[in-house]
Amino acid sequence: MSRRPFVAGNWKMHKTAAEAADFVARLAAYVPASVDVAVCPPYTALAEAAGAATGLRIAVYAQNMHQAASGAFTGEVSTEMILDTGADGVLLGHSERRQLFGETDEAVNAKLAAAHDAGLWVIVAVGETEAEREAGETEDVLRRQVSVFDADEQLVVAYEPVWAIGTGKTATPELAQEAHAFIKSILDVPVLYGGSVKPDNAAELLGQPDVDGALVGGASLDVDSFVAICRAASR
Ligand code: PEP
Repeated sequence: MSRRPFVAGNWKMHKTAAEAADFVARLAAYVPASVDVAVCPPYTALAEAAGAATGLRIAVYAQNMHQAASGAFTGEVSTEMILDTGADGVLLGHSERRQLFGETDEAVNAKLAAAHDAGLWVIVAVGETEAEREAGETEDVLRRQVSVFDADEQLVVAYEPVWAIGTGKTATPELAQEAHAFIKSILDVPVLYGGSVKPDNAAELLGQPDVDGALVGGASLDVDSFVAICRAASR
């Protein structure tokens, strides 16, 4: 692996503030020194998680944000509000945001620009649906999603084939490697793999030359399984 590995846990709509703080405190004891680690708690747990992570080698990312600085956007939060919690970054463009909440490429790009201006670290998720893969459109989809991003040192892309998220279906290491290499041919940034990463498949996926780390959903909710994935990344 040419870059320092990075493993991020997307907790989705799980964990209270107290649970998040407890998780961060327990995780800190086991994070391998050679791996960068982040957790993405829900908004309500960001401040507690960020407080618990102070002085530790664990970054805290929100799971979404709005691109406007403020205004009549009921239910949304701004970059300033995320920074106010003490969080370091934000996850953008997750397929659940795109599929369940109608987030478009344009919206993701606007959020990315706002996050960049605010100095937030960003993980931006891209990936094809099962229908797009079966239609042979994977590269077209990835090119469309990625080619509008500007590489900067605070940007990380997560390749998450939509058909592999929360389904137990994992991309083969070869398929992941192929997609990562394709993304890097467009944009020179670290690329994480996401989609049913578990302790028992992490080493093989993370062993691919262009897989720089993992974005982990379900298996990031438990300290032991998340630590096992971080350890696989450190090897
Ligand atoms: C995700 O939510 O980004 C994800 C990859 O989920 P899971 O690991 O559960 O497939």
